[in-house]
Amino acid sequence: MKLLTVNQKGLYCKQADVYLDPWKPVDTALISHGHSDHMRWGMKNYICQEQTVPILNLRIGAENNVRAVAYNDPFEINGVKISFHPAGHIIGSSQIRLEYEGEVWVFTGDYKIVSDGVSQPYELVKCDHFITESTFGLPIYNFPDPHEIYEDINTFWRKNVALGYNTVLLGYSLGKAQNILAHLDQSIGDIYLHGAVANTNEALATIGYDFPGVRITPENDRSKIKGAVIVAPPSASDTPWLRKMTPYKIAMCSGWMQLRGARRRRGVDKGFPLSDHCDWQQLNQAVQDTGAKHVYVTHGYENNFSKWVSEEYGIKSSIFKTLYNDEEEEVSE
Ligand SMILES: [Zn+2]
Ligand SMILES: [Zn+2]
Repeated sequence: MKLLTVNQKGLYCKQADVYLDPWKPVDTALISHGHSDHMRWGMKNYICQEQTVPILNLRIGAENNVRAVAYNDPFEINGVKISFHPAGHIIGSSQIRLEYEGEVWVFTGDYKIVSDGVSQPYELVKCDHFITESTFGLPIYNFPDPHEIYEDINTFWRKNVALGYNTVLLGYSLGKAQNILAHLDQSIGDIYLHGAVANTNEALATIGYDFPGVRITPENDRSKIKGAVIVAPPSASDTPWLRKMTPYKIAMCSGWMQLRGARRRRGVDKGFPLSDHCDWQQLNQAVQDTGAKHVYVTHGYENNFSKWVSEEYGIKSSIFKTLYNDEEEEVSE
């Protein structure tokens, strides 16, 4: 019998009677990370990596039914050895490893192999069965190194200051926003934050993170916001809130920006292909490096990538239909 299967509530381990990132209320949920398609309300018990706890408190409300675990610190439930390992996706994001009777399963949650300079770097976890996301599981997706993109963002900002514009950077409030903030060149100008970003930063400050930027409130004198950067979630584009920042140049930070035409469709001045997910090359590297004999593909281009894995590498491959989407990229075509 398979250790992990999918049912109508989520990814299920019958032996331990636990779900991984379930989308319906269950008794015990192992949570890979704090994005809302993976961490939902209504579970009786949550088990997550310790740095995910403040995010859980912020998004679901303070809970006293949370068990925090450290990376690489195995525990057992009914004979199943369970451990969390860095997934490189956002702060606290984890791959979840389950071992039973000598067989090892790894669920990636969302992940990326390259380091963004903020999230705990991805750890390769060897396994027999590998459940991978495939958000950018097409060969057209090949992202530049995040640190090159951070430089391009600072160059964009500098240029806008010289032209008398503010700079609006749209990036998801948990993950993308912190990566951008940690790499802005603060000598260029002031940094301001949309409330959703400021709230996330405040939650992360409780565990020692310190990201720059001032929350924009109705009390701020908008006429003093000049040559500044404003970091806001994509949902803030085209709102009266944003129009008060004029004159500005606006950029979207998302993996989808790599596609020709995506920037124009979003109506932004510039697109930076900054992603929290694996691109094509990273997905291929992961399935090979884990040594898995069976790969399960979910969350994205699962048909395409699953077919590729079995044909290209001769690895047995299946599709897991799940309800994960990619909230953090938010501009999926
Ligand atoms: Zn995610
Ligand atoms: Zn996701």
